[in-house]
Amino acid sequence: AAMDQAEKEALLKKDRKYLWHHITPHNDNPMVIVSGEGSWITDADGNRYLDGMSGLWCVNVGHGRAEIAEAAAEQMKKIAYSTLIQSHVPAIELAAKLNEWLEGEYRIFFSNSGSDANEVAFKIARQYHHQRGKPSKHKFISRHRAYHGNSMGALGATGQAQRKLKYEPLGVGFTHVPPPYCYRCPFGMTKGECEVQCAQAYEDAIRWEGAESVAGIIVEPVITGGGMIVPPDEYLMRLREICDRHDVLLIVDEVICGFGRSGEKFGHHNFGVRPDIVTMAKGLTSAYSPLSATAVSAVMYESFKASGADSHFRHVNTFGGNPVSCAVALKNIEILEREQLVSRSAYIGNELLKRIDTLNGHPQVGEIRIFGSAIGIELVTDKTTKEPANAAVVSAIIGGCKQKGLLIGKNGDTVPGFMNILTLSPPLSATDEDIAFIADTLLQVFEANGGG
Ligand code: PMP
Repeated sequence: AAMDQAEKEALLKKDRKYLWHHITPHNDNPMVIVSGEGSWITDADGNRYLDGMSGLWCVNVGHGRAEIAEAAAEQMKKIAYSTLIQSHVPAIELAAKLNEWLEGEYRIFFSNSGSDANEVAFKIARQYHHQRGKPSKHKFISRHRAYHGNSMGALGATGQAQRKLKYEPLGVGFTHVPPPYCYRCPFGMTKGECEVQCAQAYEDAIRWEGAESVAGIIVEPVITGGGMIVPPDEYLMRLREICDRHDVLLIVDEVICGFGRSGEKFGHHNFGVRPDIVTMAKGLTSAYSPLSATAVSAVMYESFKASGADSHFRHVNTFGGNPVSCAVALKNIEILEREQLVSRSAYIGNELLKRIDTLNGHPQVGEIRIFGSAIGIELVTDKTTKEPANAAVVSAIIGGCKQKGLLIGKNGDTVPGFMNILTLSPPLSATDEDIAFIADTLLQVFEANGGG
């Protein structure tokens, strides 16, 4: 039902006066969201939209899960807050459950956001090398176009100039290599006929920086926020081998790819690698409550323990591993398991891809890329030159979808300033009707914007 108009106007007035919105600059007319159910959210006017991006790739189990609210309330009634200086039941159970999901032996350090989880990873990596008598190993190498968070270290690891300018100097010791971007191969190669030079670039960078100065490399299994860039199949395994050769830690950022988004429990499971450190957030709680985790290999943890008196990790986090958030995460994972949403994710992606396959013939669709249920549609002005589509074209598609009740996203910066990649990643609980609605809407909107 719609909110009373006077009430809504009063709210918007306060919004304009007091609230500083993320991402959307000076948003004077925001949608005021009041409720959600499954894949759908409702605004103050009673308009319903299919949340085609699961918020920001995070509401994996869908909106309006009463049982998660109940789990939170139950925990709040027992004990709402305890530090992890002691221990508490939900944190213990969750750390054990995450080990099951990771299919490896890890120690779990909890914090509050994806950015936090990456900061923790960097600090633990540096301390690890320090304690093994290799204190000069301090640098991290990531990819251009990658996004790893908003804090000084995580932003340092981010490989997109536009996000960093105006905030520098950031955390020091971060360098970047070209992304495994097959559609626009930085090495001028063709997909399937290359030597995976993008992986080799990592080894070259380690050598040029000096392996004795490199602590770790950080990668998302696919670069999501920087353009849905899916690497060649063997890429991640090659990085694992390179890391092993140079005593460099492999840190995998699963903030988006984790918890089923990729069609496997974790994105790296698609590539058969075992990371030294895994960071996670978003889908860990399906965003019902803030929580993140840094999973550190048991081997690394043991080496901390073995290094004696001064080996504790000095990183206080007041809210990290909050009992309510951990209870929420446990219920969220229970739902993912019970409803088999990991395999559902793969199904959703494949089904969507099938249904929008004809878009490949659209003059402005350069490439459609997919990882599990996460999809990227790269828009170009010309399929041959691959010149990125301009903002007007991208806005026309996004606006057209919104008008029909489908919210999708954009990212990219293929050429700095061009956000020419449409993103789509519905909740993993999306129904068959939701899938049909998304596909039909996209087809109609593309049809109205240049055929196809
Ligand atoms: N890593 C990746 C891959 C992300 O996409 C994000 C957020 N979009 C982050 C880290 C940072 O997470 P948060 O916004 O929770 O700090």
